[in-house]
Amino acid sequence: MKLLKLLLLLFLISCGTEQISLPRFKQNGYINPELKPFVEEFSKTFNVVVNITVKFDNEPIENYDKNKLEEYQLGVCYNYNIMNLDEVIISYTNWNSFTSNRYNLGRFLITHELTHCVFNYQGHNDDRKIVGELDVPVSIMTSAVTSEEIDFINNNWEYYINNLKGELNYE
Ligand SMILES: [Zn+2]
Repeated sequence: MKLLKLLLLLFLISCGTEQISLPRFKQNGYINPELKPFVEEFSKTFNVVVNITVKFDNEPIENYDKNKLEEYQLGVCYNYNIMNLDEVIISYTNWNSFTSNRYNLGRFLITHELTHCVFNYQGHNDDRKIVGELDVPVSIMTSAVTSEEIDFINNNWEYYINNLKGELNYE
């Protein structure tokens, strides 16, 4: 029953473009070890240095009174547009609910949030397309996904990365 609910659940990837105030402290660029392989893959894919903080919402916080993401949230990018202050926070609860496809979640989610933070990608792309009998997001920068859509995106990873590079005018 719990699994069914999870499969049907639509996750939002809310991202902090409507930021309230600057962080109280400078971030230290800490990257949680479990998330690090995905950050490194992003680095390699886009040939960029990532020096922002990437962590779970159950880890110590310096900057916010409330760090915990909402139940429906997978992750957030606090994008201050100031070097080294940006921060990606991932929902630890939702991370752990992805048992069989956690790798897929990690690759998708970290790529999504780092695209916001590193490339200053504002907003989302919620266009959809029909593939066979599936109705799927056209972009990794969709604002909402299901577990199945995360798997679909990973199964067509090269296509989605190339699309994202197109969106970013990446050379
Ligand atoms: Zn987003």
